[in-house]
Amino acid sequence: MVQSLHNTHPRRLVLLTSALAPLAVFWGAHWQGTGGAVTFASLLLPIVMVSVSARTRWVFAALAIGATGVLAEAILSGGPDGGTGGRFAVALVMELIILSGFVTTLARCLRGAVDEPGHHTAGDADQPSPAHSGPKLGDQAAAAASAEEKQDVDAVRFPELLETLEDIGRFVSMNLDLDTLVPAIVSTAITSLSCRTCEVYLWDATGRTLFNPLSPEEQKPSDYVPHAEHGIGAWVIRQRLIWTRERALNDTNFQAEADFNGPLPDAVAPLTAGGDLLGLIVVSHLEQLSPDLERMLSTLANIYGLGIKNALLFRRVEEMARRDGLTGLYNHATFQQELHSLVQQAVAEGAPLSLVMSDVDFFKNVNDDFGHQAGDDVLRELARLWKAALPDSAVIARYGGEEFIAALPGIDEHQSSELAEFLRQSIAEHPFLSNGAQLSVTASFGVAELGDGTQRTDDLVRVADQCLYAAKNAGRNRVTSRSTAAALSLESDCKGGHFIR
Ligand code: GH3
Ligand code: MG
Ligand code: MG
Repeated sequence: MVQSLHNTHPRRLVLLTSALAPLAVFWGAHWQGTGGAVTFASLLLPIVMVSVSARTRWVFAALAIGATGVLAEAILSGGPDGGTGGRFAVALVMELIILSGFVTTLARCLRGAVDEPGHHTAGDADQPSPAHSGPKLGDQAAAAASAEEKQDVDAVRFPELLETLEDIGRFVSMNLDLDTLVPAIVSTAITSLSCRTCEVYLWDATGRTLFNPLSPEEQKPSDYVPHAEHGIGAWVIRQRLIWTRERALNDTNFQAEADFNGPLPDAVAPLTAGGDLLGLIVVSHLEQLSPDLERMLSTLANIYGLGIKNALLFRRVEEMARRDGLTGLYNHATFQQELHSLVQQAVAEGAPLSLVMSDVDFFKNVNDDFGHQAGDDVLRELARLWKAALPDSAVIARYGGEEFIAALPGIDEHQSSELAEFLRQSIAEHPFLSNGAQLSVTASFGVAELGDGTQRTDDLVRVADQCLYAAKNAGRNRVTSRSTAAALSLESDCKGGHFIR
């Protein structure tokens, strides 16, 4: 029972005491000469229950409320003379203090006996975690102050903790979408560590930078942002250890070039999995400094690290499935999906959308004359030229063997034809190099715009395809759109004629 009362958070009981106090004072003040007895009787039980928790800070808070209430009632009910009523009230307050002190001491003794060996409570939090050395306090006074503080904080409630960790582990291992995983990590860390702010920064190993994966709308304004090159961020990346402000204040090895005059987090932990650094978790505005913080953060960081690694792998596999292995451009299926949503968006907004489709001229000859390896090199280089020539908004794909396509949102047929013409010239003038050989290729282009008769995805692709074959029929190495086809009397070609491939 002592254990279960101990597990009831004393903050709630103190809140209850502070809610009951004015009611009791108000009620007692209606009777003459109660001397605080009504408030004493009403608050006795909650104060005793807070005392069972044996947490000094909360016991003091409850006693302060009780004493103020008793004295207020004595004054209101017994008049301001402070005579017998006043002495009676002081006696009641003394009784409250003695009773609460007795219960607190008894509860501490009983709990010491109830705790099983192996249970970690606030008392054994001085034990260093395996990964870190214990705090090196500067002097005896600091050590005594720290021990007192540690006695005062909440002890870990292991059954609840295990349940929470199990829930977090299950959720994190099942959540493969980084966009929902990171907010879940943030919210579970805030709850488990009792802090107001928690942020996850992912590590970009190529650029050696840290970035916040949340969208700007999801990000909360933060007074501390870690850097990969200096300060605490760089220290944690280098050391792969948990940094805490408390430890840094007492141990020069943990000072990590931190600016103690500027905003500082309470803790920064590395997120790793299988030896790979995946990011950092930054914890700020802890509600209470707990000696178990590092141990808890280390356990959580291990779970989060594995979850992030899984989600990153899953994202990579998904991305690979969307792309063409040779050129890195989108594949046919992805392009169809992307085009479908671009068409819907353009129709809804009444904005232009055009397509550029192309086929390499006589590509078979490249393979025949220089080999398939050279053909592959040419395809890769072509993809690079497409990306360089078209705006960032373009959705570019390898549509088939040596066929490329791009959807250009916000761009009309005339502008698309100009872009296609620029690309055609770049390809024609480009020296393609493969295995010491230099070769030249040309490509033919068809351009179509969403509009009359091309309101659907299929129509748009069909017209671009037909214009491409009109370009082939007209002699290759050229750009054909509906308007140029009309000018060249190839209109029938762009309306569904048959072309020689
Ligand atoms: P046209 O001007 O009429 O388009 O002539 P073409 O030779 O380009 O047309 P065709 O369709 O006859 O040949 C396309 C060639 O592209 C055939 C195939 O070997 C080659 N090809 C398709 N995919 C790849 C690939 O991934 N790598 C290589 N090296 N060649 C490929
Ligand atoms: Mg072809
Ligand atoms: Mg071809």
